[in-house]
Order: sequence, then C-alpha cells, then structure tokens
Amino acid sequence: MEIYELTIHELHDKLKKKEVSSVEATGAVFSRIVSIEDKVHSFVTVSRDEALRQAEEADKRIASGDMRPLTGIPIAVKDIFCTEGVRTTCSSKILENFIPPYDSTVVARLKSEGAVILGKTNMDEFAMGSSTETSRFGITRNPWDLDRIPGGSSGGSAASVAASECIASIGTDTGGSIRQPAACCGIVGLKPTYGRVSRYGMIAFASSLDQGGPMTKDVKDAAILLQVMAGHDGMDSTSVNTPVPDYSKGLSGNIKGLKIGLPREYFIEGMDKEVDAAVRRAVKELEGLGAEVVDISLPHTEYAVAVYYLIATAEASSNLARFDGAKYGYRAAQAKDLLDMYKRSRAEGFGPEVKRRIMLGTYALSSGYYDAYYLKAQKVRTLIQNDFVDAFKRCDVIVTPTAPTPAFKIGEKTADPLQMYLSDIFTISVNLAGLPAISLPCGFTSGNLPIGLQIIGKGFDDETLLRAAHAYEQATERHKKKASL
Ligand code: GLN
Repeated sequence: MEIYELTIHELHDKLKKKEVSSVEATGAVFSRIVSIEDKVHSFVTVSRDEALRQAEEADKRIASGDMRPLTGIPIAVKDIFCTEGVRTTCSSKILENFIPPYDSTVVARLKSEGAVILGKTNMDEFAMGSSTETSRFGITRNPWDLDRIPGGSSGGSAASVAASECIASIGTDTGGSIRQPAACCGIVGLKPTYGRVSRYGMIAFASSLDQGGPMTKDVKDAAILLQVMAGHDGMDSTSVNTPVPDYSKGLSGNIKGLKIGLPREYFIEGMDKEVDAAVRRAVKELEGLGAEVVDISLPHTEYAVAVYYLIATAEASSNLARFDGAKYGYRAAQAKDLLDMYKRSRAEGFGPEVKRRIMLGTYALSSGYYDAYYLKAQKVRTLIQNDFVDAFKRCDVIVTPTAPTPAFKIGEKTADPLQMYLSDIFTISVNLAGLPAISLPCGFTSGNLPIGLQIIGKGFDDETLLRAAHAYEQATERHKKKASL
C-alpha cells in the first residue's frame, strides 16, 4: 500500500516505529496531489511550503517522544475554516483574496496536536449546494467517476480523501454537507452533535445548524479526529461545556442488543432502487451482528426541506450582510458613493446561488412575512425535534439512507435548484434537531458508484453512533474498496 493510501491510525503507527517520517509522508501525499489533481480538482489552495515546515516540526516532536495521535499526519481542510496567513475563500469571489489574521479553533487544535495542514479544499460557494458546482474556482470531480459530482458542499474534502490526496480531511455540515459528499465518494463523514465542535473561525452560513466534522477513510479515524476537534471553546457561545468522552475507546465492535430504529418516512417511493436495496441489506447485516430492529415514525419529516430552506436562508441573509466591500474581501471599483460601493461589491462578489439564498432569507425575515414564514418554520422545527425525542424512547440509533441517489452527473441538477435541494432530504432533519449522524459506505451500484448508510444518534451520544458504525464497517469491510484513478 502507498503511504498516501494509509489511514490516520496506520500512518501514526508507521511514524511511531520510525518506518517513515512526516516529511516523507507529506512529500508522498504532495506527489499524489501533483499526479491527479488535474483530474479531480479537490483543492482551492495547496500550501506546500507551510505543510513541509509543519512536517519538519512534527518529526522533531516525534523524535523527542512528544507524539499525539495526529502528530505528523497530513490533513486537508475545507476552505471555510480560517487559517492564519493562508487564503480562505469559501470558494467565493467576494473572499478571493482574503487572508485571515487568525486560525479557527478547529485548525488551531489540529496544529497544536502537530498535524500537517496540506491546503484548503474546494466547496460550494459559502457551503450552499450539494454538488460543489457553485464554487468560484471550478468544479470538483468524483474520483469514482469523473463525469459525476463529488457531492457538496464539502465536495473537495470528500474527493481528496477518496482520491488519497490526503490522509483525512475536515468539512462542515449545515444540512448534509459532510454526509452527502461522504456518501457520494465512498468515505466516512461525521456530523457531530451541534455544540460539540467549536464554530469559531468557521465562516458562518446558518449559525444554528453549522457544525464541523471529520471526513475519513474509516470510522476509527473519525473517532480520532473528533477527539481533537471536540470540546468547549470560550470563543463560541454555542459550544457546550460537557466532558468529551474517549471516542476511540468506545469502538468495541459489539452491538449486541443495540436497538436500531427504521423510520418509515425515509424509505419512500422514488428513491433509487439500488440505494434502497443496499440500505435494506445493511439493516439485515446489522441484525446479523446482534442489533434489534424496531419500526419508528418521524411524522414531520415531509416538512424538513421547507423548514430548512426558510431557517438556513434567513440566517444566511443575516450572516452574509458582513460582506459589503468595506471590511474584507472584494470591493467593486468605480463606485459613486458608499451605498453604491456596497451594492456593486455584493452584486459582483456573490454568485447566483448565494444571491438566491440571501433574497429568500431576507424575504422570510421581512416584516409582514416573518410570522408566516420564519416564525412558522421555527415552530415546525420544534415538532421535528420532538419527533426524534419520541423516536429515541424506542431505539438507540436510527438508520436511513444518506442520500436518495448515488452521485449524479455534472450539470444534471444545476438548472433546477429544487431538484438540487432534494439531495439533502435525508440529512436535513438531523441538523434541524442538532443531532449527530454519520455516513459510511454500505455498498455500490452496478455502475460501481458508492452508496452511503446514515446512522443518527441521540444528542451528545456521538459515541454510540461511532460504535455502531465501526462494528458495521469492520464486519463488512466495504470501506476498503478504493476508487481507481
Ligand atoms: N446542500 C444543503 C444546502 O445547499 C446543505 C449545505 C450544507 O450542509 N452546508 O444548503
């Protein structure tokens, strides 16, 4: 196996035994990037010099015996996390030349562990999308089939893992943006419980939904990365101050007696037949491992997409007001006066999908419509949350497909925003309820496209989720199949 194909824990072992140095491993990953990045285009920015410097530091740390699980491990970071001194664009023209003066908490934590930051991965502009097609910097292609999308919005992070252009990556998930691309690219993607991971320095899309999380080659790696990312941060008032459990320790492989809920609203007409079959087989396999299946209902599921597109756009319209050409980012030339400068900077700096969301959100919040749309949506959000509270009285985790279809063709849904929005039909409720959920590979279509299984957990029970996912993965080993590029 090539060095760049290793998982975090495999490379960690090799670094520890001094079979390879971090500088060598980082060099191997960069060679891989050079050889296939033209085809895949996972990155917006590659920070080779900084990464090699960090690798040298990591090697010194390892030599001195101060080694942590991520020390010397090359990691790719979604271009939504601020990185001190390294351009952070959110794949938008408006932040095309923005160089943050500070690190996001997540990146600071990775660095303090001695991880090597390879660069910044491509995404849908401001994380709005399901295909990575709205990026200012061009599309990313799915390593399993270069004519298809990698999913989105963390499409670059997912593709970089699937194409072995990094050892692991991190992404963000507001309505499915870690899990859906993980499913499309055949990797593991974990959205932690809302409040588990600090959002400080993560450019905000919808603050009550956004959460950063790991995108990895296996479940153990997701546990290792989450361990570093999780925990209270005084800089994010929504980060929760409760102890962080030892996530790797919980991976016992044993799920005997675990109660798995199957929500009837998630196995619907119109879902891709091969996805449906793969997920049903996965449920049988989980049963074979000793889990007990119970039928449950999440009756307000049908409202989730509508509620999400009111709340997420309302929050986005407020969050994105800060991009006005005055403080940072793109400023239009030749403005007549201050107001004209704001208008032109925003008109020229934002892409069409971002503008659509700002307009939708502004409308939903405007006086006269606020009660009918935004307030109503908040009420239905509570009903969706209560559905899960009721369901979790009868089960420990909930199992569903991650996405209704495998990766679709590039350009297939760009003309119809509503079709694009429906890609997240199975992932959105989880964000509205603030729960943790993971996507992991559960099979392949006849055309060799990966299919994702979603496991949803109770709030702050990311542990049980990881345990179930790990047991399934170790028993089926579908994560071992790699895209051939
Ligand atoms: N695809 C969804 C959207 O477009 C979710 C995006 C996300 O999770 N960032 O809003």
